[in-house]
Amino acid sequence: MTDPLQFDRAHIWHPYTSATNPLPTYLVERADGCRLHFNDGSDVIDGMASWWCAIHGYNHPVLNDALAQQSSRMSHVMFGGITHQPAIELCEQLLTLAPDGLEHVFLADSGSVSVEVAIKMTIQYWQARGRPEKHKLMSLRGGYHGDTFGAMSVCDPDTGMHHLFQGAIPQQHFTERPTCRFDTAFDSTSVQALERDIKQHHTELAAIILEPIVQGAGGMWFYHPEYLAKVRALCDQYEVLLIADEIATGFGRTGKMFACEWASVSPDILCVGKALTGGYMTLAATIATREVAHGISSQGGVFMHGPTFMGNPLACAVANASLKLLSASGWQANIARIENTLQTELTKACTLNSVRDVRILGAIGVLEMTGPVDVAQAQTFFVERGVWIRPFGHLLYIMPPYVITDDELKTLCVALTDYAKKLS
Ligand SMILES: *Cc1c(COP(=O)(O)O)cnc(C)c1O
Repeated sequence: MTDPLQFDRAHIWHPYTSATNPLPTYLVERADGCRLHFNDGSDVIDGMASWWCAIHGYNHPVLNDALAQQSSRMSHVMFGGITHQPAIELCEQLLTLAPDGLEHVFLADSGSVSVEVAIKMTIQYWQARGRPEKHKLMSLRGGYHGDTFGAMSVCDPDTGMHHLFQGAIPQQHFTERPTCRFDTAFDSTSVQALERDIKQHHTELAAIILEPIVQGAGGMWFYHPEYLAKVRALCDQYEVLLIADEIATGFGRTGKMFACEWASVSPDILCVGKALTGGYMTLAATIATREVAHGISSQGGVFMHGPTFMGNPLACAVANASLKLLSASGWQANIARIENTLQTELTKACTLNSVRDVRILGAIGVLEMTGPVDVAQAQTFFVERGVWIRPFGHLLYIMPPYVITDDELKTLCVALTDYAKKLS
């Protein structure tokens, strides 16, 4: 019998990991509620919601049931020439929840793919409008949009993977990371760089892509809603489409159903993913306005994308159940509760000299440290403390399932601040 962890270490790639010198992995046997149970019988409180997806916690009876029911009817059928109730119901729900004006849904199989789809839509749109020179994207520094080529091309050019794939990645335009914090008065000079860059490049810009309000994996930075409103206005003025990547922020995480609502903005294209299925399956969606969708087809064109597992019925069924659970859950009050606890517990870390900044919004709590965090060391500390927190770069953060109790959340926060103390 091979030791499973040894096999894993020798043969299995994990995210962003060396094949020859990987970080340690922990063997999870099962998960329920907000707990991950390891094979040695111990468990940890989950502060990550499995990369922001598992909003209702694990092993949820309603979601389990949705999957079981659907699998007894059909797990998958091709989406070419065929449709089905789970997809129809999901797209109806999405259009009801999404900001105004979004009317056409493309079901994609992951967040990165939904970003590729969005980029392709904007390029095909301008081609159909007779302006093929508008084929470049502009994005914000500090952004993250996924790991496929189109998505990589609009990730932060320094912290992203540009240097590794130089020459193979499409060249796009970047503007400054918005400097105006979410939680301070708006400084109108913070849009000057953006204004200048759009003015300079708009003739070749198909779209601006951004994460509204919360930049996630590119640095956990929260910027002011007025900045987003200004981007929308400039996009309209200069005839540039706006893609809102809400893969991380969608479905309540920031305290609004979609972060665009902080600025009462509707994008031309919206990408959702991550929490869409409550963390059960991979599924994402790219949702476009009628203008974009009909524009693409105006010269008889078709939109050129069609994944094999498009509209997977299992994924759609569990997404339907997850969205219904969310709507029925009183999520606004719940996110406010989580935010309050994060405020009380994490702001205590402000004075530590290892901590540069504390940021809290909705069910997201971030300690930005003065130096890079040693992931392996931090992870060992956290597991010993009975919590699952995975830092990256200079950041210690938590994004728990929405069903987390106050006690569990406090345990997460205390572990986080204790680790920051240890580094001080
Ligand atoms: C996670 C993420 C993606 C990529 O989604 P995958 O499902 O990992 O491909 C894209 N954009 C944002 C904002 C994300 O947080």
